[in-house]
Amino acid sequence: MKKIVCCCRRMQRAIDTKNKIPINFEEVQKFFAIDESDAPGDLRQYEIRHCPFCGETLPDLKDAYWQEMRKSYPNLYSTKDKVLTIYDDVIPKEFRSGSWWRNRKL
Ligand SMILES: [Zn+2]
Repeated sequence: MKKIVCCCRRMQRAIDTKNKIPINFEEVQKFFAIDESDAPGDLRQYEIRHCPFCGETLPDLKDAYWQEMRKSYPNLYSTKDKVLTIYDDVIPKEFRSGSWWRNRKL
């Protein structure tokens, strides 16, 4: 994963040492979450809106993720009847990482 710029050093440390401090940075949709998983493949987590260390409002691009994908790939939606998830095979490569928000400077 590319280095991200966190709101404060303690949050950056939490992300860098996520096995010790259970805070995840979800790069694809750019949000932070407290990890509740207790087994491999367990994806349970609680999204956090503010940094627990400094109180800064944290980013959340979940809505922007789908809006930008609809704008960039309108045919993706017109050919699918089901609701897409970020794990679907049809998700374009750019939207499988943080490239989409980095390219748009979001
Ligand atoms: Zn912080």
